Amino acid sequence: MSGHGSAVDRLRTQGYRMTPQRLSVLDIVAGKSGHVGADEVWNQVKIQHPYVDLATVYRTLQLLKREGVVTEVVIGNKLHFELTDQQNRHHHMVCSHCDAVQTLSPAYLDELNRRLQREFGFAPDVENFTIGGVCSKCQTAESE
Ligand SMILES: [Zn+2]
Ligand SMILES: [Zn+2]
Repeated sequence: MSGHGSAVDRLRTQGYRMTPQRLSVLDIVAGKSGHVGADEVWNQVKIQHPYVDLATVYRTLQLLKREGVVTEVVIGNKLHFELTDQQNRHHHMVCSHCDAVQTLSPAYLDELNRRLQREFGFAPDVENFTIGGVCSKCQTAESE
């Protein structure tokens, strides 16, 4: 929960108008531990702001993502979001069978980052990178 007050200040200094709807979207994402679906955010925003549509919630989430305030995780075919935790950054591995999410230390991608920069001069943006695949449990279930 900590840190989202400073995120609001930062957005304000960058000239974003933090409307009550935007603040409400941010509050909901910040109030959840773990990843919250965009539709779930919408359902909660509607309690306070009945006229907000899903497109507005999406736009707000994309704005917060661009500014690094939230991180996007694709689980199944749905977008999920969480507050970006600078002290505890992580990537995600999502199982395509059971939608289980495992977190991954950024150290795993550091080497890839460095090599892409060195060999291709390419500056990768892996902040919102999610690795799809099949978790160990589902692999075991398949082979039985
Ligand atoms: Zn996460
Ligand atoms: Zn699985």
